[in-house]
Amino acid sequence: MSECDDLRDNSSCSDNLCLPSQIKLTVYPQVFGGTVIRWSYTDRDLLAESGLQVQIEFSPYAVSDNTAWTIVRAYAADTGYWTDTAQRAFGRRNYTHYRISVLDVALNEVWSQPKRADSYIPPAFDTTFRELVRRWSGRANRGELRKGTLLKRRTHATRCSVCRDRDSGVQLISQCLTCYGTGRTGGYYKVPICVYVEFSPMSISHGFDANKSYFEQGPDSQVTLLNIPQVFPGDVWVEDSTDHRWELGNMVYAQKIGSVECLAKCEASRIDFTDVIYQFPVRS
Ligand SMILES: [Zn+2]
Repeated sequence: MSECDDLRDNSSCSDNLCLPSQIKLTVYPQVFGGTVIRWSYTDRDLLAESGLQVQIEFSPYAVSDNTAWTIVRAYAADTGYWTDTAQRAFGRRNYTHYRISVLDVALNEVWSQPKRADSYIPPAFDTTFRELVRRWSGRANRGELRKGTLLKRRTHATRCSVCRDRDSGVQLISQCLTCYGTGRTGGYYKVPICVYVEFSPMSISHGFDANKSYFEQGPDSQVTLLNIPQVFPGDVWVEDSTDHRWELGNMVYAQKIGSVECLAKCEASRIDFTDVIYQFPVRS
């Protein structure tokens, strides 16, 4: 148990600022010869330990949920690096994430943060990156941003057998509580840390009509958020105070440090209140 585990309050997420972890992980995707994964420790206790065991896991999602991860190398002696020779099926590097877990002799497990294969911040920009994260957290603490929970849409899970036709994949039932309309079992992964967003002041609420019911889709807006974990179109952000659920669309702008898109501005659209996504539990 880390000291941060009990920072939870009544909200749907937790401001667990134990990120980043004490493990520094770097992934070097190679054109030939596999992907090299290197790690080192910034934590003095881990550095001092001997007999550490390291396990390497792979996922198309940058979430901490253990069920989203596949072990690609089971626990073995700590060598500081490992090469993944497998050809990862997902092709696009931004869907390729690794993480490692470290087991000490007392059987305590520590995980690294998920690392995207193509994300690399040169050491010279390390301070810039940390300053960006620090400023964003500062704005969140001052109440300048809206607090909420990010749901990562499952894109690689097994196809939902409840609402989809087995052969054609056509949706036969709406309001499916197995996939929440995504067609993939489970629907979404909940990101356990709070995700703060800024709504664009230029927000266009087109089509607002007082004569129409409140159940209209929309309004549309643009939101800016830290791209940690990385957001993709189809992910859903749930506002903590209202439970309004917004589907994120295309990224319209990103602030890059090194090759990492750190801050993302995306299109967002409030989902119709009758949508099954409102049944997805975010407070459990
Ligand atoms: Zn379904």
